[in-house]
Amino acid sequence: MIKVFIDFDGTITKKDVGASIFLEFGDEERAYEIINGFRDGIYNATQTWIELLKTLVDPDEEKIKEYASGFEIDGHFHEFISFLEENKIEFYVISDGFKFYIDSIFEREGIKAGFFSNDLLFTDNGPKTVFPFTDENCDKCANCKRNLVVSLSGDDEFSVYIGNGNSDICAALHCDYIFAKDSLLKYCEKNRVSYYPFKDFSDVKARMTDLLGKKRLKKRHQAELNRRKLYMQG
Ligand SMILES: [Mg+2]
Repeated sequence: MIKVFIDFDGTITKKDVGASIFLEFGDEERAYEIINGFRDGIYNATQTWIELLKTLVDPDEEKIKEYASGFEIDGHFHEFISFLEENKIEFYVISDGFKFYIDSIFEREGIKAGFFSNDLLFTDNGPKTVFPFTDENCDKCANCKRNLVVSLSGDDEFSVYIGNGNSDICAALHCDYIFAKDSLLKYCEKNRVSYYPFKDFSDVKARMTDLLGKKRLKKRHQAELNRRKLYMQG
């Protein structure tokens, strides 16, 4: 059985919605500093979101929500979802971004998909971040996609990862097949992790159609070893 895991920002959407919110409504210069700091390893993901939140001077819930809900998605995502459904392939969206805009973009697009993410709540005391899926031993990501991938797919299943960013690396390393672009692609390239490059979901659909035609899907040995290592750590 095949299980598919899909990143949201910059993978399903054309741009990174989470980061754009802070560039638009926060102090742009400071927001870039923080985002670069995250890229350079100065801030972990949780700290990055919290620091970014501080740059919002006068956060207007309505305006932020309206802005965030307007982001375009990949023009081939709908047909990819239909393809998965036709082939009875289970899929999950896993995101290190926020639930509120994933909900509104999916609602606008009429997409029904299970997803796991962080959230940003607009409270009387201002916006507040919520991180339900952090890992207790690793703080690289806010939403630990690796833990989700490993708990949502069995060792006897063939796991597929589709993503574009640094927060996808760890999860992708625990999957049998990786579709990559942007920083995830660069990471795979640099570290000799086998991957399939994609520009949009039509590339992913075409390649997955080929995979479905194969008699047997070969699991990635390194992913099996990474999973085993994780179980050993408990
Ligand atoms: Mg992304």
